[in-house]
Amino acid sequence: MSSIAENLQDLMLRLRRACEQAQRAAKDVTLLAVSKTCPANAVRQAFAAGQRDFGENYVQEALDKMAALAELRTQISWHLIGPLQSNKTRVVAEHFDWVHSVDRLKIAQRLSEQRPAYLPPLQVCLQVNISGEASKSGLSAAELLAVAPAVAALPRLQLRGLMAVPAPADDLAAQRAPHRALALLWAQLRGEGLALDTLSMGMSHDLEAAVLEGATLVRVGTAIFGARPAKAA
Ligand SMILES: *Cc1c(COP(=O)(O)O)cnc(C)c1O
Repeated sequence: MSSIAENLQDLMLRLRRACEQAQRAAKDVTLLAVSKTCPANAVRQAFAAGQRDFGENYVQEALDKMAALAELRTQISWHLIGPLQSNKTRVVAEHFDWVHSVDRLKIAQRLSEQRPAYLPPLQVCLQVNISGEASKSGLSAAELLAVAPAVAALPRLQLRGLMAVPAPADDLAAQRAPHRALALLWAQLRGEGLALDTLSMGMSHDLEAAVLEGATLVRVGTAIFGARPAKAA
């Protein structure tokens, strides 16, 4: 089995190739290493290999990992990418740097009210249900256009952009379509004056499609840390 450091190196190469193909600068796409279900030691190995941004889906698991890695706290950016319930907003506002999965104005308001004054504003993305799946969380396009200006105006948040988890698809064209749809919504909001700089899209199986459509941050778990246990996927 290859090591986390080797996987990261392979992935950075894959990401560089995707950027070349898209005629984009490699520095314009940030790699978020999705460490959900992985032990703190796996994060430590990725950190030793130079990785600094980590994504987590489950709040309590993330808090445990942050505690285990407390000495790295100022050097790591922790991103919440999983569903966020209103009873968890306070600990999230107190401990995370980013939240990609904001999907209601009420959640954004709570995060803003609860973000401690001694920390910089919480960096947030609005999650869009871009494939329109009934089972998926995220705002519809119409809801997004209504909610985004209100979120952008909250004092203790900085609205950075949009996030989506499109339905899986096999071929490149089918993978590109939802990513393009998200990029168009992002461009529309920018056109309306919102200062967005982040398009959080692309995972292990579709990062090339996402980079071709303008992703500025890809969220990769399996390709770095290996397959997750089935129950926690
Ligand atoms: C798990 C997860 C990822 C990473 O998925 P991989 O297929 O393992 O790369 C990215 N984004 C979200 C929201 C996730 O839940």
